[in-house]
Amino acid sequence: MPAEVLYKGPKPLPGERWCFACAYTWKAAVNERFALTIDQAMSAPDGSPTVWIDATGTEDLPPLATAVGVGLFGPMTHLGVLELCWSHLTAIRLQSTGGLHLPAPGQGVPGMNGMGGLLG
Ligand SMILES: [Zn+2]
Repeated sequence: MPAEVLYKGPKPLPGERWCFACAYTWKAAVNERFALTIDQAMSAPDGSPTVWIDATGTEDLPPLATAVGVGLFGPMTHLGVLELCWSHLTAIRLQSTGGLHLPAPGQGVPGMNGMGGLLG
């Protein structure tokens, strides 16, 4: 069994949670940044010590926003309802007929550019 890989990262304020989509994007960036260390851990011999990925001081990673509500995340509607930030909550479109329009599953989120959408 290769070495276990564990992570250290920023924590949200007490009582708050990171947006799922922000955390997902952040972790992907951390895995990319520490790819060599992770690869070495995965090919380490049995009994190797745990490898810690310390990403607590990496200010240039994608931003993490706190969740403000629950809803569908456009690119991953198959995951169901998630805790999301304002930028990642799927929006409804108000129509003059008084009806609401929900994006179809798999349809992008307005204002988002794939997984790397802007926050704020
Ligand atoms: Zn988010």
